[in-house]
Amino acid sequence: MIEKQTKSIYIDGNWRTLDPAKLDTIYNPATLEPLTEVAYGGAAETKEAIAAAAKAFPVWSGMTGRKRSRILYKASEMMMEDAERLGEILTLEQGKPLKEAIGEVKGAASFLLWYAEEASRGYGEWIPSSVRSKRMLVIPQPVGVVGAITPWNFPSSMITRKLGPALAAGCTVVLKPSPETPLSAIEIVRIFEKAGMPSGVVNLVTGNAEEIGQELLTNKTVRLITFTGSTKVGKYLMREAAEHVKKVALELGGHAPIIAFEDADLEKATTLALLSKFRNNGQTCICANRLYIHEAIIDDFTTMLKQKVEQLKIGSGLEDVDLGPLINQAAIEKVQNQLEDALAKGAEMVTGGDKWQGDLKGHFYQPTILTNVTDDMVIMQEETFGPLFPIQAFTDETDVFQKANNTDYGLAAYVFTENTSRTFRAAEKLDFGIVGINDVFPAVPEAPFGGIKQSGNGKEGGHHGMEAFLEQKFVSIGVNRD
Ligand code: NAP
Repeated sequence: MIEKQTKSIYIDGNWRTLDPAKLDTIYNPATLEPLTEVAYGGAAETKEAIAAAAKAFPVWSGMTGRKRSRILYKASEMMMEDAERLGEILTLEQGKPLKEAIGEVKGAASFLLWYAEEASRGYGEWIPSSVRSKRMLVIPQPVGVVGAITPWNFPSSMITRKLGPALAAGCTVVLKPSPETPLSAIEIVRIFEKAGMPSGVVNLVTGNAEEIGQELLTNKTVRLITFTGSTKVGKYLMREAAEHVKKVALELGGHAPIIAFEDADLEKATTLALLSKFRNNGQTCICANRLYIHEAIIDDFTTMLKQKVEQLKIGSGLEDVDLGPLINQAAIEKVQNQLEDALAKGAEMVTGGDKWQGDLKGHFYQPTILTNVTDDMVIMQEETFGPLFPIQAFTDETDVFQKANNTDYGLAAYVFTENTSRTFRAAEKLDFGIVGINDVFPAVPEAPFGGIKQSGNGKEGGHHGMEAFLEQKFVSIGVNRD
């Protein structure tokens, strides 16, 4: 299914021949076996890709929304029809269980579908003038050439969540995917190509992040950088983009709390907490990173959660498993370091706590639960990005909201309660861009997804997801009075 070498630089409608001196090997994180080699591009390729995107911009932005929409519809349909094969490729390069990978591909296609629909709804605004001699309107126009930088944890949907609205708005794009997972990006670009995307509208450059990033940042033709990834890299991009007053739309890290009150439905709360934490093996920006459980239910909650966690099957994502490998050795070390820090400071291990010793060489870790965690532990302050579940007891609603908010992150928070008044208090008082009440799956095409504080400054999804890619031009017209 995957060739030994895969062309991965696509500029102005052409796949570049691979240069044997500039190749990057892609590995399967479950087996550590090489999957293929792709191109390792840099500044020169990025410059060419930006020029191609600039050349294509008047053509693409000049089309009617309806026409752009048709290509996005087609791409969405093609992705849906090919979801099983695309899911398998995603699992091979990223590791997540096949059922999750196919779900991600279908989710990715649904973003293209949503924005195919939005493409023909670029409404402007009519402003009633305060004087009779003027007419005023606001016209939304595409920002221009966009640089899109994406991470490895959702190699398919993080791309379409950006490219869907960018293309619907009339922007042209240079995409730089994660070096761990370029194959899903290549497949998406191939789909756009087959769906009839004009040359130069979508360009792909894999390779040296610093060089590609630097060119996207310093080349004045690029008007917006849309980035999903760590807060550290997001801050760097924001600082550098300031030099040219370039727009940045940032989807960054998270540190999501789950708060389960004494009136929570325990079966629902433990099942959803488990699904939130162990989706993609804890490598999800919105997955539960810390659990605050009311002291009246903490014993039952922990017992039920432990039973569920111990039933999780680990192994290659291509088998019938719940947990695949972590992405790389650095991810294993991060989990191990947070665990050791917590244990040294008095946490108690409920289950797990070590690397998983199966018959595969990959980066596997046991799903782990810790209790008696305290706020000074690193795990209660930083994103884990692995299968580690810290549980802390609480008694008071105001205190627990304060604890949940006591972080620089502000992406997602979850509450389990059956109390309607508390539902609204939580929604209003938790400082997060997304609050899930008895719900841990808030990422859908029709609603705005994004963080506040150091979790980002943009929204992806919904009609809100178009805003980053549109300028609002004010047109003021003087008219003769009758
Ligand atoms: P990352 O290390 O920040 O990398 C993200 C992307 O940025 C990769 O393609 C990376 O390429 C690139 N990059 C790194 N340095 C760069 C530079 N100087 N210039 C240009 N590009 C650069 O993040 P990650 O480890 O891939 O992803 C995990 C993080 O993403 C977590 O913090 C997670 O919470 C966050 N995330 C957030 C959301 C959200 O919607 N808020 C969604 C998914 C993930 P290289 O790998 O080659 O450096």
